[in-house]
Amino acid sequence: MTTLMKGSCSCGALSFSLQEKPLFSMYCHCTKCQRAHGAVFVAAMHFSPSALTWTHTAENEPLEEKLTRVALYRCKQCHCSPVTQIFASKNWVISPVHLERDADGNIIDWEDVKPTCHIWYGNRVLDVADSLPKWEGFPRTSTRLDSD
Ligand SMILES: [Zn+2]
Ligand SMILES: [Zn+2]
Repeated sequence: MTTLMKGSCSCGALSFSLQEKPLFSMYCHCTKCQRAHGAVFVAAMHFSPSALTWTHTAENEPLEEKLTRVALYRCKQCHCSPVTQIFASKNWVISPVHLERDADGNIIDWEDVKPTCHIWYGNRVLDVADSLPKWEGFPRTSTRLDSD
């Protein structure tokens, strides 16, 4: 299998590689993401269950934190949780901020993984002046807020 992307926690002890491109990639403005990350919105990529391979050493096995719908995989050293898995679909959810960077600090192959829409934009705490579609809630099934 070919590794397309690599990623890690903030200290690098917990690491993984990705063998597939994301199923989808978006910016999420929902209140859960805002509160969990202390951020005005987050970037999230979803990958199929077969896309991820852990690459850390045995002593850096992540701590698994089970929440209602998802499990967070947390680094034992820096406590960052770069990988989330949804129980129902087994899909992986990863923020592009955890992907490998080039010497200038830019995400490698950003064009392949960058978000293509904003979801839960109805709950935004910051207006974003880009040209991406903006959905009030879930994509395609809620009202588009950027079209007139
Ligand atoms: Zn770490
Ligand atoms: Zn969210």
